[in-house]
Amino acid sequence: MIALTDAHRDAINRHAVADHPEECCGLLLGTFGDEGRKVVRDVLPISNAREGEARHNRFLIGPMEMLRGEREARARGLDVVGIYHSHPDCPAVPSQFDLDHAWPAYSYIIVTATAAGAGQMLSWELRDDRSGFDAEVVDALD
Ligand SMILES: [Zn+2]
Repeated sequence: MIALTDAHRDAINRHAVADHPEECCGLLLGTFGDEGRKVVRDVLPISNAREGEARHNRFLIGPMEMLRGEREARARGLDVVGIYHSHPDCPAVPSQFDLDHAWPAYSYIIVTATAAGAGQMLSWELRDDRSGFDAEVVDALD
């Protein structure tokens, strides 16, 4: 389960719509709680800083960016708890590419983005055997 506020949701949706028709991505900073519950405290957009890269690479967060994100999180007393990205004009369901590049333990929030606005937002967790993703409950935080 992952919990986030309406403001976090809005920030992800705005990023997804701004980058449409390209994919956007960013990190979810927060805390790991009991029984796998994650609480988001901040969102860190990444793809806006990457002009001119191939669209299919935009979701890919490299080791250096991950390291920077971890440092940024730690400076605020937080952890990287997940990654968000958009699926322009496609369902918010992980692709084979997403599966091939997923990291364990993180939440994967995917939002559908269209020219008219943001659509469905779903969160996913990688199975331990990497055979696929399981849908994760997204909880509202005050
Ligand atoms: Zn994807």
